[in-house]
Amino acid sequence: MNGHVIPHTPFAVDFWRSRQCDLTGTRLFFLTHMHADHTSGLSPSWKHPIYCSEVTAKLLICKFDITPALVRPLAVGESHILPLDETGQETMTVTVFDANHCPGAVMFLFQGYFGSIFYTGDFRYSPEMFDHEVLANRQSIDVLYLDNTYCSPECKFPSRTEATQMIKDIICRHPGHDIVLGVSSNALGKEDMLVELAMTFQTWVVVTPQRLETLKLLELPNVFTDREDGRIWVTLKYQITRKNIERWNQERPTIAIIASSLYAGLDGISHVHVVPYSDHSSYRELHEFVSRLKPRSIIPVV
Ligand SMILES: [Zn+2]
Repeated sequence: MNGHVIPHTPFAVDFWRSRQCDLTGTRLFFLTHMHADHTSGLSPSWKHPIYCSEVTAKLLICKFDITPALVRPLAVGESHILPLDETGQETMTVTVFDANHCPGAVMFLFQGYFGSIFYTGDFRYSPEMFDHEVLANRQSIDVLYLDNTYCSPECKFPSRTEATQMIKDIICRHPGHDIVLGVSSNALGKEDMLVELAMTFQTWVVVTPQRLETLKLLELPNVFTDREDGRIWVTLKYQITRKNIERWNQERPTIAIIASSLYAGLDGISHVHVVPYSDHSSYRELHEFVSRLKPRSIIPVV
């Protein structure tokens, strides 16, 4: 579980253990995004208001059965003033930033009597993040809760734009082939890339009915289907095996592309291509982000 009760404040982020929150007097709960390691412990019986992005709010209600009255969507890119006590005398400002991670994923900047606390959740750094006026004109950051998934110098990978282009180039080199695209999980992620591939190659993207149901809530361009009439098929990467590749190729010429920065296995095998596509920041990006933000202290999230 990647959540934290924020010390010396009445709020918690991605933290859903009610009993512990009761003991610490936690009153406000923030959710960065809908990945399972950030929602662990959250259930339909949850009784406290949850602050999150508008996309996450929709998913919380429709996929998690959270009582709608408890879900408090915050517009991304804007600052919001929230009461910290029952009377509303003590307040804090929360600014919500796109985390560039998966649909609805956000980062929070909390500012109040406790100082300035920046919580990234999971994020993929982009230099444009600092174009936001609140970050451009910020006071110092006291504590940075940082997504340190790839906080190691050997974690080098291209930008997602470059990785998407690598995938397009592979597909271009295989006209007449079906594309099986392996992803890590059934969770959200890589939707922008899939939409771009669908648009570029003018094809449907075939997904499971379960994934399609979630994608419909996101109001993405209409490129996804659960019918078997697309050229690009999304599957879990563990299903990309030598045996399955042989079987697929007996039916139609097929290549597999594994879009993952955490993969070693079938790379180099005929018909399999691995592209280091990441929804988390590379080491170099983390370094740049921290250098620009200049926090007084850092707490790793992962
Ligand atoms: Zn995540």
